[in-house]
Amino acid sequence: MSHSDCLFCRIVAGTIPADVVHDGERLLAFRDINAQAPLHVLVIPKEHIASLDAAGLASDLLGEALLLAAEIARREGVAEGGYRTVINTGDHGGQTVHHLHVHVLGGRALTWPPG
Ligand code: AMP
Ligand code: ZN
Repeated sequence: MSHSDCLFCRIVAGTIPADVVHDGERLLAFRDINAQAPLHVLVIPKEHIASLDAAGLASDLLGEALLLAAEIARREGVAEGGYRTVINTGDHGGQTVHHLHVHVLGGRALTWPPG
C-alpha cells in the first residue's frame, strides 16, 4: 500500500525526485540527500513497511535488500575498502523516516561505536 504522506512512498511513486541507483521489481535504491560518507545510498522496499519492527514475515525482502546493498557497494567501488549497512529503528534507533530503509555507507573509514 502506498502512503501519500510518506516521503519514501512519494519517491517510489515518482512525485518527489531522487538520485536513483537501482530500480527493481520490489526494491528502490537512491542517494541520501544528506550524505554522511562519499557513498551513502538508501535501499528501500517499494511497498510501505514502517520499520524493521513492522517487517513481520518479509524475510525474503529483507534478504534481498541486504544483498542489493552489497551489490551497490561493489558497483560503487567501496566493497574492497569496506562499508557499513545500517537500519535505524524507532526513536532510540534514530529513525526519522518511517518507511524501512537500509543505509549503505562507504568510501571512508567509519568510526565505532555510533553516538
Ligand atoms: P533515518 O534517520 O535512518 O530514518 O534516515 C533517513 C534518511 O533519509 C536520512 O539520512 C536523510 O538524510 C534521508 N532523506 C531524507 N529526505 C530525503 C530525500 N528527499 N531524498 C533522499 N534522502 C532523504
Ligand atoms: Zn512509505
